[in-house]
Parts: sequence; structure tokens; C-alpha cells
Amino acid sequence: MKAVQLVKFGEPAEALKFVDLPDPVPGPGDVVVKIEAAGVCGRDLVVRKGAFPHVKPPIVPGHEGVGRIVDVGPGVEKDTIGERVFLSGIYDGTCEYCKRGLENLCKNAELLGESRNGTYAEYVLVPAKFAHPFHGLDPRVAVVATCPLSTAVYALRHVDVEGKKVLVVGAGGTGIYIAQLAKIRGAEVYVSTRSPDKARVLKELGINTAPEGEKDFDIVVDTVGSPTLERSLKLAKRSGSVLVIGNVTGEKTLLSPALVILRQLKIIGSMAFRPWDIYEALDILKRGLVKPLYTEYKLQDAVRAHEDMERGAVIGRAILVP
Ligand SMILES: [Zn+2]
Ligand SMILES: [Zn+2]
Repeated sequence: MKAVQLVKFGEPAEALKFVDLPDPVPGPGDVVVKIEAAGVCGRDLVVRKGAFPHVKPPIVPGHEGVGRIVDVGPGVEKDTIGERVFLSGIYDGTCEYCKRGLENLCKNAELLGESRNGTYAEYVLVPAKFAHPFHGLDPRVAVVATCPLSTAVYALRHVDVEGKKVLVVGAGGTGIYIAQLAKIRGAEVYVSTRSPDKARVLKELGINTAPEGEKDFDIVVDTVGSPTLERSLKLAKRSGSVLVIGNVTGEKTLLSPALVILRQLKIIGSMAFRPWDIYEALDILKRGLVKPLYTEYKLQDAVRAHEDMERGAVIGRAILVP
């Protein structure tokens, strides 16, 4: 099969190679999914730079994927062949977090593209229970639900945005969906972005850029990370909340405890999503409540997708199509 392999950590052109790999063969309990669309996550950029010690090249990156089951291993119903599925994270279902419905925090979680070959490929091998059937959406639209919109769905479970003044910092692949979702949940939403193109697209959706000097937001959702976090804390009003979602650079940052104490801020981390958050995201897309913004690339152009994302030039999700 054709696939993009992370051969070493570094810049896109030296790290990502378009290669031929053996087709995956399903073992007991596995399915092989023919990928129809794979999402390029901000996290993939962090992985590529070598920020996660658990990732060992060579490996096929990518945890976001939609496709059809084309082969099954022993113990899996043959009639699932042909079903369209989305892929989720892999979790044990038995640890204390899984038992509390927090599979996103599973102690034994695995992510496609990090501990095993991922979705930047024609085919991917996964345990059958992490290939979830769905109907009624174009795969390129559905892939938006598999991480960016489900991340937004899960993040906004931590705060009640209705009637609140919300600032979304960063209008990348996730921010652009958090802003849309907060709006349909009844918030007065502003975004902060350096990109005039992204600002224009959001304006067409009725979401404005925060005016210069605007502050005292009830809720600030930071989708960028180290470069913006201190500013996000300063823009939240007293007793406000700062949701921390993005970490696209993988760098550390210095924070002033006084800023958090004197304003009595709540800093809330939100980590990815659970499979049912993806189902809710799919439902939101089916009902047309959120516009599925994405930019399509051929699989062999993964290097260009990473480069474009790095310079903030991708509107919505970058999607690889084999
Ligand atoms: Zn993702
Ligand atoms: Zn678990």
C-alpha cells in the first residue's frame, strides 16, 4: 500500500516520506479499514517535531480517519465488510478512568499514528471495536467530526457558554469549530487570529474578530498554547475560565501564579474526546449546524499539508485523501 511514513523527527520534507508498505493483515479481533479521508491534526505537527518520547520512527502518522472495512480477522463478523466507519483512540475499557466514562484519559490509551501505524495510508489496521460504524455523511466531512469537532464538543462540556462572552484564541483546525459550536450554544463569540483569511471566513459565519483592546471575557478558549496562554489569562475577567486545549508548538511556558490568584481564574484542561463525542459531532454535521470547513490534499502531498498548517495557511481541517 501507499503510505506516508514519519522516518525521523524534523521539518516536514525531511521527516515525512511517501513510501510503499506491505498491506496490513488482520489478526484476531482486527479489521482493515481502507482510508477515504485522513485528518491532519495539530498534534501530528508536535509528533513530527519529536515532542513525544513514546513515538518511535519509522511509523505512519495520523489518528483521524474515515473509511470502509475491507477485511476482518478471526472472531470478527464478516458482514461488517463494506461498512463505513470512523476510527477512535484505543483504550482498555477497564481502568478507573474508562469506568468513569473518561476513556480519553485511559491509563493504557493508544493513539493511531503514535504507538502503531496510523491513517496517513491507504489502509490501516485497528481492533474492530475502535472502528465505529456511521451513515449519512461524506467521508471528508465526517473526518472533521473525528477530532476537531469532537474536541470542541468535549471541551464545551466543561463550561456553560450560553449567554457568555467567549473568546476563542486561534482559528486553526480546532478553533474554527469551537467558535462555531459556542455560537450555536448561545454564546457571544469572538476569535483572535493573525490570519485575515480565517477572520474573513469566520465573519461570513457571523463570528467576529475580537476588537483591539477588548477584554473581560467570561470564558477564553486557548487553542494555541505556549505563545498565547499568558495573554489568554489576562483577557479573562475576574472569576472567569480559561480552557486550555491547544499545544501546537509543544513548548513550555512560564505562568504567573499571581495572575491566576488575583483574578481568581479557573484554568481547565480538556483532553481530546470520547467516541460518543464523535457521534454527537457527526449528528451536529448531519443537522447542518456547523459548517464543515476543510482543505483537501492528496495523500502524497502530506509534506505540503504540514508546511501549510505550520504557516497558518489552512482554513479548517487539512484532509489527506489517498
Ligand atoms: Zn486530532
Ligand atoms: Zn482505560
